[in-house]
Amino acid sequence: MIIALLGNPNSGKTTLFNQLTGSNQHVGNFPGVTVEKKEGAVRGQKNMTLVDLPGIYSLSPYTAEEVVTRDFLLVNKPEAVINIVDATNIERNLYLTLQLMEVGVPVVVALNMMDEVRQNGDSIDVPLLSKNLGLPIVPISAAKNEGCEELVQTTIRTAQQKDRPRGLDLCQGEVHRAVHSIAHIIEKEAKAADLPLRYAATKVVEGDPITLSKLHLTDSELEIAETIVREMEANLGTDREAALADMRYDFIASACRDAVKKNGNSRELQRSIAIDRVLTHKYLGIPIFLCVMLLTFFLTFNVIGAVLSDWLSLGIDTLTGLLDQGLANLGINEAVHSLLIDGVCVGVGSVLSFLPTIVTLFFFLSILEDSGYMARVAFVMDKLLRKIGLSGRSFVPMLIGFGCSVPAIMATRTLASERDRRMTILLTPFMSCSAKLPIYATFTAAFFPAYAPLVMIGLYVGGMVVGVLYGLLLKSTLFKGKPVPFVMELPAYRLPSAKSVLIHMWEKAKDFLVRAFTIIFMASIVIWLLQSFDTRLMMVSDSGDSMLAGIGRFIAPIFAPLGFGNWISSTALITGLTAKEAVVSTLAVLTNVPDTAALTTVLGELFTPLAAVSFLAFTLLYMPCVAAVAAVKRELGSAKYAALAMLAQCGVAWIVAFLVYQIGRLFLGV
Ligand code: GDP
Ligand code: MG
Repeated sequence: MIIALLGNPNSGKTTLFNQLTGSNQHVGNFPGVTVEKKEGAVRGQKNMTLVDLPGIYSLSPYTAEEVVTRDFLLVNKPEAVINIVDATNIERNLYLTLQLMEVGVPVVVALNMMDEVRQNGDSIDVPLLSKNLGLPIVPISAAKNEGCEELVQTTIRTAQQKDRPRGLDLCQGEVHRAVHSIAHIIEKEAKAADLPLRYAATKVVEGDPITLSKLHLTDSELEIAETIVREMEANLGTDREAALADMRYDFIASACRDAVKKNGNSRELQRSIAIDRVLTHKYLGIPIFLCVMLLTFFLTFNVIGAVLSDWLSLGIDTLTGLLDQGLANLGINEAVHSLLIDGVCVGVGSVLSFLPTIVTLFFFLSILEDSGYMARVAFVMDKLLRKIGLSGRSFVPMLIGFGCSVPAIMATRTLASERDRRMTILLTPFMSCSAKLPIYATFTAAFFPAYAPLVMIGLYVGGMVVGVLYGLLLKSTLFKGKPVPFVMELPAYRLPSAKSVLIHMWEKAKDFLVRAFTIIFMASIVIWLLQSFDTRLMMVSDSGDSMLAGIGRFIAPIFAPLGFGNWISSTALITGLTAKEAVVSTLAVLTNVPDTAALTTVLGELFTPLAAVSFLAFTLLYMPCVAAVAAVKRELGSAKYAALAMLAQCGVAWIVAFLVYQIGRLFLGV
C-alpha cells in the first residue's frame, strides 16, 4: 500500500515521516528543505510505504517540484494521501486540500501542530470541520508524537474502503456553470488521458497548459471551452485563475467559519512580529546578520571547535607515533612503513582533525536555521539579490551551499523560473563549502593565527562578493530579464529541537568521516605512490624527482603569476578536485611532515604570507569537486554548459588571485 504525504512547505511533513517510519530525515524550520521524494516503511505495519513529497502550496505547477508531486498523484496513483495541514495557518493550508479533493484520491487530513493551537488558546472543532469538508480529519502533533497511531489507522481504513472525498460541489454560480459545461465537453478525452474528470475540467478552466496538452481536445472543443471561460470572466469581472482561487477561498472560509475559533493575535505571533521588526529591519538586517555570522565563526574557530580540534590532532599524532614505533620495532618493509605513516596516517589525519570544527559550525548553523532566523535572512537578502537579478528565494540553495554544493544545486529545483534556477546553479559554487574549511584553518593557523575569525569571515564574504559581481555580469549578458517576485513565507520562531540539531550534526560528521576514509584515504595513497616513484617506477629518495613532481612542475607555471608556482601547491590544487579536503592532505603528504602540527611550520617555507592569501583566494573560487560538477551537469542538463561554467569559474579564480597577489605586491613593495 503506497501512501503519499503531502502538504505545504514547513507544515511538518518530514517530522511526521520520521515519526511514522522511524527514519532520520533532515527537518528544518525553513521552506524548501525536502526537494526529493523519500520513501519509508511505516513502523508496525506490513506493506505500508510512506512517500514524503516536496512541500507545495498548490497543484498548479509553477515550480519543478509541484510538477513532481502532481505527476506522482496522477500517474503513480497512491492508495491514499495524507494531507498534512498546519493548524495554526489552516485557511491557507486548506487551499491544497481543496485541490486534492478535485483530483479525487482518498485523502486523510492530518491536522498538525495542534500543540501550538492549544497553546495559543485557539480551538478547532474537528468533527464539524470534517463534516464541512467531507474528509476524515485526525488532529495530531508530529513533533510530540500525538495522534500518529490514530492517523495510521484512519489512513488504512480510508485506503481500504477507497473513501474518496464526498463529491462536494465546491463551486457556485458562474464558476460552477463553467466547470460543469466544460466537464460535459471533455468527458471522453479525460477518460482517454486517464485524468479525473472534475480535476481536468477545473484545469481547463484555469487554462493549465500541461493538462491541455494531455487532453488532446479538438479545435472546436477548445473554441467552445474558451468561449465558456471568456463568458465566465466577463460575468465575474476577474480572470480565470483568480476566479478559481476566489471560489476555493470562499469555500474554505465557509467551512472554517464555525469550526475554527481564533483567540485574536496569539502572544507567539506578537512576539514574532516584534522580533522581526528588528531582525528584518531595512538597514539593520544585514549588519545584524554579519554580526551573527562573526559570533558564530568566533565561537567555532577561536573558542570551541579550535580547542576540540587541537585535542583530536594531539590524539591522532600520538596514535601515529605509536604505530610508527610499532612498525619500526616489527621491522616492517620500509616502503610499506612509509606508505602507512607518511601516506595514510598523515593524509587522513590532517583532514580528520578538523572534524570537531565542522561539527561545531553546523551546531550553530542548525540552531540558526531551526529557530527560523535563516528564513529572515533570505527575506533581508531579497533586496540585495534582486540587484543581481535574483530573488530572495535563491538564498535558500546558496545557504545550503555553505554546507555542500551538491544538495545546494539540487535545492534549486524549488525555484519557480528556469532563468532564476540556472543562474543560481552557476552562483552557488561561489558560496564556500564546508570541505574547504580545513584548507582555511590550516593556512590561518600557519600565517595569521591571531586573526582567524576575521580571515574566515573575509573568505566567506569574499566568495559572496565575487558571486555578486559574477551575477551582475550574468545578468547583463546571458540572463537578461526579471526574477520572479519573492514569495516565501516566514515560519514562526521556534525553539530549536535538540533532536533535529543532533541529526544535523551527525549527518555532517558522518559525511565528513566517510569522505576522510574513502576519497581522502585513496587520494593519500595515490599521492604517496606518485611522489615515491619516478617514471621508471624506481623509488626516489627525494620526492622532487618523483612522477608527481614532474606533473606538478608541468602545470606550476600557470600559478607562478599568482605567487605559488611550486609543484607541491599545484599538485594539491589538482587533487583538491576529488574533494577539497584533499588539498590539505596532499600538502601534508608532500611536505613529508612528521605530524599535522608540523605542517604549519613547513607551509611558511612554501608560501609567503601574500602568496598564502592568493592561494586561499584561488581555493575559495576555483571549480568545485567532481561530485558538485556532476550535480551541475545533471541540473543544467548539458555537459557542454557545465564544462563552460567550470572553465569560467577557474578563470574567475585565477584573475582574482592574480589581482590579490599583484596588487598586494605593489602595496607591500615586495
Ligand atoms: P516540512 O517542510 O513540511 O517537511 O516540515 P518539517 O518537518 O521540516 O517541520 C517544520 C518545522 O515545524 C520544524 O521546525 C519542526 O520542528 C516543526 N514542527 C513539526 N511538527 C510540529 C508539531 O507538531 N508541533 C510543533 N510545535 N512544531 C512542529
Ligand atoms: Mg521536509
